[in-house]
Amino acid sequence: MDAGEMNPTGTGASVRTDTPVVRADTPVDVAIVGGGLVGASLAVALAPLPLRVALIEAVAHDAPDQPSFDERTTALSNASRRIFETLNLWPQISASATPIARIHVSDRGRFGFARIEAARQNLPALGYVVPNRALGRALWSAIQAHAALQVHVPAQVREVRRADDRVRIEIESGGARGGLSARLLVAADGAASRVREALGVEARVRDYHQTALITTVLPQQFHAHTAYERFTTQGPLALLPMSDGRCTAVLTLAAERVAEAMRWDDGAYLAELQSRFGFRLGRFLKCGPRVAYPLALTQAQATSTDRCIVMGNAAQTLHPVAGMGFNLGLRDAACLAELLAQRAGGDCGEADLLRAYDDWRARDRRGVIGFTDSLVRTFSSPLAPLGLLRNAGLLAFDLLPPAKAALSRIASGTARASRLARGVPLA
Ligand SMILES: Cc1cc2nc3c(=O)[nH]c(=O)nc-3n(C[C@H](O)[C@H](O)[C@H](O)COP(=O)(O)OP(=O)(O)OC[C@H]3O[C@@H](n4cnc5c(N)ncnc54)[C@H](O)[C@@H]3O)c2cc1C
Repeated sequence: MDAGEMNPTGTGASVRTDTPVVRADTPVDVAIVGGGLVGASLAVALAPLPLRVALIEAVAHDAPDQPSFDERTTALSNASRRIFETLNLWPQISASATPIARIHVSDRGRFGFARIEAARQNLPALGYVVPNRALGRALWSAIQAHAALQVHVPAQVREVRRADDRVRIEIESGGARGGLSARLLVAADGAASRVREALGVEARVRDYHQTALITTVLPQQFHAHTAYERFTTQGPLALLPMSDGRCTAVLTLAAERVAEAMRWDDGAYLAELQSRFGFRLGRFLKCGPRVAYPLALTQAQATSTDRCIVMGNAAQTLHPVAGMGFNLGLRDAACLAELLAQRAGGDCGEADLLRAYDDWRARDRRGVIGFTDSLVRTFSSPLAPLGLLRNAGLLAFDLLPPAKAALSRIASGTARASRLARGVPLA
């Protein structure tokens, strides 16, 4: 197997002074390709274990073109908060986190709506909204603090090749080449994963023909820690509470409207947002720069193959409507870290570990992918019968606690919880 030339997104300033290029075939136990949200989380989780771990990332976390730690915000579930608490990252993350006290779901032009309240579920918050750049700072300062982690950034994986009981990875940095040989290779290099492709793991892609337009807005009224999810025939709209009374607006548009939407001035954008959202928070006064994300469901057809694991967006890239992609990817990382902790000292690329990982992740993955996809399809359809169903659905959803409990369970992870999610450190 040969990956051929692999060209990831770009380079940025190095955050670590490790020699970015190593001699050919430096042996490690685990090589993680991709130090975005999921790969960096896995590296932090593995750092205290007696394993030689290498992390290869193409773009430094604080570079302007970093694709994971960009201008977005991420809604973290309580399970994700617990994982970050156990990894001792929460004190730093929480300084930038805005708690979500309630979620308000509605359907434009229809009377149905649903509310989920943290207080009614005896929770301090339903989740937390954190800027991706703050997550990058917390994760990468922990990575830098662990001297035992071998970090290669900015470095690009050029070739992946299996050889006997190892995987050889050729990396390039600043024009020089070097290599690693790992017992286990983890592909955490995002939706368009070149490593997944090089490993021969197929991915099914379904284009939603929608694009998410992200920006920060300031509404006239305080958001009161409410996250809004509003379904419209043009696609869903989410408003997430942030610090200083601002909100992150995730406006979904039909793909063919994006070029025009990127040319709108702020006034035209705010008018579109207002017409979709209504006046629940008064007028929208200001907005920041807009960034567009084309949306598709990408599903790897396997989460492991000989000595390799595919995780995070490389395994499944979801529509952001329910804010579950990273939460799911973080659970991927927490589960793998636990399996590796159980086998520290042994061969961490053995087939039974890969099987255990696949089995553990399958149900959670299936549940979250299915839930998110059906949400997009049901609530994007302009068909009248579906509209009625949506009304009934949302009202029933609001009235029936079991439906809300089911959503809370999906949002916080339906599978057996990992030790990290239960607050139990791995070492
Ligand atoms: C608009 C939007 C809003 C979202 N909101 C939420 C939310 O509220 N809650 C939530 O849970 N999820 C949310 N998500 C999903 C979340 O952003 C993703 O699930 C998450 O980014 C996945 O992280 P990842 O590390 O797997 O992949 P990525 O974020 O894509 O990171 C991949 C990393 O790999 C690196 N890389 C790529 N190729 C190579 C290579 N060859 N060599 C070395 N490095 C390489 C890249 O530079 C990058 O750093 C949202 C997504 C979108 C688009």
